[in-house]
Amino acid sequence: MNIILLGPPGAGKGTQSGLLVEHRGMKQLSTGDMLRAAVKAETEVGLKAKAIMERGELVSDAIVSALIDDELAALDESTGAIFDGYPRTEAQAVALDALLAKHGRKLQHVIELDVDEDALVERITGRFTCANCGEGYHDTFKQPAKEGVCDKCGSTDFKRRKDDNEETVRTRMAEYRAKTAPILPYYEKSGLVTRIDGMAEIDDVTEAIEKVLNG
Ligand code: ADP
Ligand code: AMP
Repeated sequence: MNIILLGPPGAGKGTQSGLLVEHRGMKQLSTGDMLRAAVKAETEVGLKAKAIMERGELVSDAIVSALIDDELAALDESTGAIFDGYPRTEAQAVALDALLAKHGRKLQHVIELDVDEDALVERITGRFTCANCGEGYHDTFKQPAKEGVCDKCGSTDFKRRKDDNEETVRTRMAEYRAKTAPILPYYEKSGLVTRIDGMAEIDDVTEAIEKVLNG
């Protein structure tokens, strides 16, 4: 099964992708994670993307689609893909169709996480992750069970994203509204879209997604 999780920054795409990976053995393909890894490794892509990401703007369609192409080429054909943060423009949606065909895959669902924009700033400014395994947390909504210790791997090292500040979040939301939300009709035409209440508790959102995937 191949699915897209669509929603503005902070909607819960990464959180829900992580749970789907755990429960269903799917592979999370997050272009944001790939770009951050490229920035850290100071690759050519990383050097191009760094300043754009810090401003909260979108990296070029060609760069992110090439990243997805490489990941799909390396992915075992029996493993389902979760597209997290991709596609983000109509050009990327068109590119994804071609990539899915190239790699012999079909899209089953586009799940739109519907969230209240005012809540997103709080979600994003309170977000942190385990520096070792990447597990996601939140100052208010999802603290580790034992303070300062990652639930998943036991690490005591956590980090926050440089672009998770209020000013950048506003730019990222504007980018979402202007360039990403308009791709929904593209998928609505093929009847693949289900809208889910992303303001519900994390577990309830997971349950709603499972219901969609289980048909
Ligand atoms: P995205 O990947 O869409 O940018 P994340 O999954 O990283 O969003 O979620 C943003 C922040 O909000 C994280 O700190 C996460 O722990 C928290 N979060 C995710 N889903 C919910 C939810 N349903 N209710 C409250 N907080 C949530
Ligand atoms: P994310 O981790 O999804 O919040 O993405 C972080 C940043 O990476 C975004 O603000 C963009 O600058 C860049 N980015 C991630 N995915 C894409 C994409 N599909 N298209 C363009 N830019 C992207």
